[in-house]
Amino acid sequence: MTVPAPVRGPRRGCNPDVWRNVRIAILLLILATAVWSNLYDRLSTTDWDETLQVGIFPVDEVENSVARDYITDLSANRIADIEAFLNQEAHDYGIGISRPVRVELYPPVVEHPPERAADSNVFQNMWWSLKLRLYARRASRASGKPPPQIRIFVIYHDPTFTQSVPHSVGLQKGLVGVVHAFASERMTRTNSVVIAHEILHTLGATDKYDPATLAPIYPIGYAEPEKTPRFPQPFTEIMAGRRAVDASTFEMPQSLDRVVVGEATALEIRWIKK
Ligand SMILES: [Zn+2]
Repeated sequence: MTVPAPVRGPRRGCNPDVWRNVRIAILLLILATAVWSNLYDRLSTTDWDETLQVGIFPVDEVENSVARDYITDLSANRIADIEAFLNQEAHDYGIGISRPVRVELYPPVVEHPPERAADSNVFQNMWWSLKLRLYARRASRASGKPPPQIRIFVIYHDPTFTQSVPHSVGLQKGLVGVVHAFASERMTRTNSVVIAHEILHTLGATDKYDPATLAPIYPIGYAEPEKTPRFPQPFTEIMAGRRAVDASTFEMPQSLDRVVVGEATALEIRWIKK
């Protein structure tokens, strides 16, 4: 006697194709949200119709008394040149509001920002960037004040132990920067140049120097590219970081007094339009 094969009934649960489509839809939604968030940040920080809030967060240094004392003595007037510079340049490019940028000193934060490995690959960089954004959100909230739109964390190094500091960074995605500065009264005004440079990176400005030679790129990295004779350039373009004294000598500015925002940078941060 043969036993009839059981008849297979309808499968319970969802079709795997449905789950795969749901997963794809969720991923696309996350991606779209990230793209929208980045676009919104870019447009809202460069529309220049209301004051842009920038917060400077010194990172507390518990193990070095020189850095700690410097941070304790930090006051708003030590960073006032940054706001004055950005607003003066914005007005020179025709930005109409009276205070385009407000740069405010926040209380020191205890937690250090995540470090980026010097030889990190593209995926490690993405992971670090994500960690930095989460750090910025956490650390700026801890200050007890409303978080600003742009957050710049400044790590102060004792110049007696550190001759050169790691590269500072400013990210447009996340509107966050990490500046390595010197805890020295003598370096306060050059620290401001670096902080202003990184603030402009968060607004979409790109570097205008050759990374191999550190030479300002002609013409976009020159404050006065049309000047005759071309050398010496009297001012430094902020995103070039150095002025050309002659064809092979480049000098860093000692303060923001001799620094300008060039036209290429002004276009990138939408102070001018094509
Ligand atoms: Zn840069």
